[in-house]
Amino acid sequence: MGAAATTSVDVAIVGFGPAGAVAAALLGQAGLTVHVCDRLDGVYEIPRAIALDHEIMRIFQQIGIVDAVLPFTEPFTNSEWFGADGQLIRRMTMVDPPYPQGYTPSLVFTQPPVERVLRERVRRLPNVQVALGTEMTDLAQDADGVTLSLRGADGEPSSVRARWLIACDGGASRVRGIVGIELDDLDFDEPWLVVDVRVNARGLAKLPRTSVQFCEPDRPCTMVIGPGNHRRWEISLKPGEDAIAAATPEGTWALLSRWLTPQDGELWRQASYRFHALVAREWRAGRVFVAGDAAHMQPPFLGQGMCQGLRDVANLAWKLAAVVRGEVRGAAAQALLDSYGRERRAHVRELTSRLKGLGAIICERDAAKARARDARLLAECGGVVKDTPRQDVLPRLEFGVLSDTASSGRGGLFPQPRLAGDVGMDARCGTGWRLVLDVSLPACPVDVDVTCIALAEPALAETEGVVAAWMARHACRAALVRPDHYVYGTAVDAAGVTALLAERRAALGR
Ligand SMILES: Cc1cc2nc3c(=O)[nH]c(=O)nc-3n(C[C@H](O)[C@H](O)[C@H](O)COP(=O)(O)OP(=O)(O)OC[C@H]3O[C@@H](n4cnc5c(N)ncnc54)[C@H](O)[C@@H]3O)c2cc1C
Repeated sequence: MGAAATTSVDVAIVGFGPAGAVAAALLGQAGLTVHVCDRLDGVYEIPRAIALDHEIMRIFQQIGIVDAVLPFTEPFTNSEWFGADGQLIRRMTMVDPPYPQGYTPSLVFTQPPVERVLRERVRRLPNVQVALGTEMTDLAQDADGVTLSLRGADGEPSSVRARWLIACDGGASRVRGIVGIELDDLDFDEPWLVVDVRVNARGLAKLPRTSVQFCEPDRPCTMVIGPGNHRRWEISLKPGEDAIAAATPEGTWALLSRWLTPQDGELWRQASYRFHALVAREWRAGRVFVAGDAAHMQPPFLGQGMCQGLRDVANLAWKLAAVVRGEVRGAAAQALLDSYGRERRAHVRELTSRLKGLGAIICERDAAKARARDARLLAECGGVVKDTPRQDVLPRLEFGVLSDTASSGRGGLFPQPRLAGDVGMDARCGTGWRLVLDVSLPACPVDVDVTCIALAEPALAETEGVVAAWMARHACRAALVRPDHYVYGTAVDAAGVTALLAERRAALGR
């Protein structure tokens, strides 16, 4: 074995799954030097995530891969929920057009080719080094940085020195273990079988035309319509049922027999899982951050696991870039970096508790309680099931890098309007800090790192009224938007705008 080579970078990332790849792309685009390693050579070829949403498409737009990803996506069909006696009790839909983020709000997708697109994007960044077949075996940190010990597929050791480390190494994160970050158990532990089937024409003719949540006390289960002929079933296992036998082809076809026979398609994969709800207690240990599955795991209802991981890295990337580039220093820099965990931990806990609430509805196994649930849900909507957009379940940020002045728009995701020339706001105006002014307010002076977007200017006129509707809903005329598209604060007049800009400057230690 030769002497270990040492590489020195701004940020090291362990794990090149979706979270690690998006982190590498965002930080690489921001001009930082990055090293990302993964112990595997290729992408994980079996789809895990099947759903994503418009916020994630906006992040994909930011890293320049939307057009390459779109062929592997389709709009998510409505999900119809059926109760104990087979009656419709809920319908999950998506918000109506014009779409607020510029993309179909809920999508299904095929994970392996999308991960390949992500990796290809990262490979084109000259300042990002990708080490595949390279396992992180240990790490040590000091006041100035982190030293990673790596081992290549040939057993050759090497090391990387980085100012900061992001652990994107999945649910069993070794980094998390080494730095001693504990997971809080949010008390959800259910055994399920997850089955992906490539269904043929004969089978497709037998299946429902919408995705379905069977809230049946005997065996709660889900069917999701994936892209093309991909159909996913999530089938709960009964207490004492043999999870290994259920995951054999015979066991799986037996559980699918209500819908399909082996002549109707081929099993793509079947695996039994325990669905958990876990959230990291701390998200930062010195110079190490955790993100993605390394920081949280949630039940798959609404398909938010990967989305949450990409929200993590989108939140962290602009903060880390600002600190590494020296734009924020000293105590303000530490506060900015600490805000990552404060914001994301609270958001993940809140969304997970909402997903657990959905899980409690779906997973009720007591027949009498399930009937009472059905009666309650139907009574709540006056007996006529109304559409519930999936996006309504997502929380906003409640604290962190936000204005001290509360408003209903603060902490939410700002829309991406289409502007004159039929171009999205991010493509036209960039994705840093933005001050968006409605048609009643003229452009005003802003700090050098803020872009002023005055919709009154003909070249910036919005074509679908998305921002006008958003401002009306939140009773404001201006919004200061962070680089991750979350709203720092809102204002109703020019004086409020001046105060918001001053508050932001102070928060960043300027
Ligand atoms: C059945 C199921 C259904 C799901 N459905 C959805 C859905 O519909 N929508 C959704 O958004 N999410 C869904 N998820 C969750 C989603 O798949 C995960 O949240 C997502 O893939 C996690 O991405 P990640 O990048 O954080 O981690 P991973 O994809 O797990 O990547 C971690 C990477 O780290 C590498 N690694 C680990 N240790 C080391 C080491 N020591 N050195 C080097 N490399 C290392 C691994 O090889 C791996 O490539 C689902 C998950 C499951 C299991």
